Amino acid sequence: MHCPFCRHPDSRVVDSRTAEDGSSIRRRRQCPQCSRRFTTMEATSLSVVKRSGVSEEFSRQKVVAGVRKACQGRPVGEDDLAKLAQQVEEKIRSQGIAEIEADEVGLAILEPLRELDQVAYLRFASVYQSFDSLEDFEAAIESLRAERDEEA
Ligand SMILES: [Zn+2]
Repeated sequence: MHCPFCRHPDSRVVDSRTAEDGSSIRRRRQCPQCSRRFTTMEATSLSVVKRSGVSEEFSRQKVVAGVRKACQGRPVGEDDLAKLAQQVEEKIRSQGIAEIEADEVGLAILEPLRELDQVAYLRFASVYQSFDSLEDFEAAIESLRAERDEEA
């Protein structure tokens, strides 16, 4: 990190703070040559490791794309999807990890999606958790019912 005042190539970190959503780190730095201080914002990287072993940068767009299909015909708007993707990202980043398995991203989607729309949740869960029988659906619906009754 070059000093913006004298272009000295090194700097010393005097303070680091992570943004609330975990997506960036704010650093106070001091130049050892001219002693002036400056602030940098650095994005923290979050990689998603796919089953194939290939990793890619986490993307909210991909979360939205994955969930949109399950929401077809449901009263779920683009704003809802964007908010859900943000919740998913914040939840993952709050764990303070730099890498996550694709399956874990799916897990992180389930809870906010259940809050958003139960039918979309069932559709998504059936694909993600590979439901392969009526019993799997029954068990999932049963747990939704139990939750609803608890709230009532
Ligand atoms: Zn300097």
